[in-house]
Amino acid sequence: IKDMADDEAIQATNDDASESKRYAVQLGYWPDPFINFFVKQTGRKAPEINRGYYARVKGIEVFIEKFLKLSGEKGQIINLGAGFDTLYWRLKETGKCPVNFIELDFPNITARKCYHIKKHKQLIDMLNTEDGEIRFSTTDLHAANYHLVGMDLRHISELTNKLSQAEVNFNLPTMFLAECVLVYIDTSATSTLLKWLAGKFTNSIFVNYEQVNMKDKFGQVMLSNLRSRGCLLAGVDDCESLETQQRRFTINNWEGSNAWTMVEVYDSLSQSDRSRIEHIEMLDERELLTQLLQHYCISVAWNGQTFKNLSIAQG
Ligand code: SAM
Repeated sequence: IKDMADDEAIQATNDDASESKRYAVQLGYWPDPFINFFVKQTGRKAPEINRGYYARVKGIEVFIEKFLKLSGEKGQIINLGAGFDTLYWRLKETGKCPVNFIELDFPNITARKCYHIKKHKQLIDMLNTEDGEIRFSTTDLHAANYHLVGMDLRHISELTNKLSQAEVNFNLPTMFLAECVLVYIDTSATSTLLKWLAGKFTNSIFVNYEQVNMKDKFGQVMLSNLRSRGCLLAGVDDCESLETQQRRFTINNWEGSNAWTMVEVYDSLSQSDRSRIEHIEMLDERELLTQLLQHYCISVAWNGQTFKNLSIAQG
């Protein structure tokens, strides 16, 4: 029962993320014409939170663009713990869609996502349908190059089956995305997952966004960092520092890795980008933003030569 309560609390973090993104979109931080289809309400968020989300979305976008360029748009994207992410439709709109796009999350979440997709013609109409067919179950959706699948990422035995239903191709250049997901999965389950992926996808890049610098100056994990929304952050040990973030990949058979705090990511945004968003809302204490950004990072890992050593720099 305790585990179920934890899983529900973990799934609720998707509502937080979606509502925060919708709020920032509404204020004009970045465009996303699709987020409204998935979340109806927004809670007001502080300016530093909105700027943090902007840096997160932009930072991830840098790697997506590099991936699409390097894979000649012949790659596949696999979003782990995708929640209500709208990336598929945003890419589709710009005509830069990869060959296949797979999203995985708990069945409770994918069922809700399926429901929203079914309900909105605009979302359905953008799904590729070579033979005009879209297959739905309560929790899963299969279109020609978009697959939404419900599963628990801690159960590796389900993964082969679920990915084959999603028409995965292990030989294609592949990008894995995990935004605030691995921190909810315990170290040993993440390790199994990362090893399995490293073994199967030899030409791939993993882009991970999550907490970092979770210990205080005495080396103790801060108690408030152990729980978020009432659920245990089971993977907190891997979020200790940029080094532990990188090591998590290399000890699990990824060839190389790199990591940046969100302070570095924010500073890598173009001057014009920063100046634009800094005019959306006033932020009296710049220190608040820096403190927030220091506790999040983007880490990347690669297998094979194609995606080796990509940097956070735009372009
Ligand atoms: N990646 C999305 C985003 O950034 O908007 C959602 C982030 S939300 C904070 C975390 C997501 O990870 C939730 O949707 C949750 O259900 C999913 N998740 C966490 N643990 C999972 C697991 N063991 N299996 C499948 N999904 C999981």
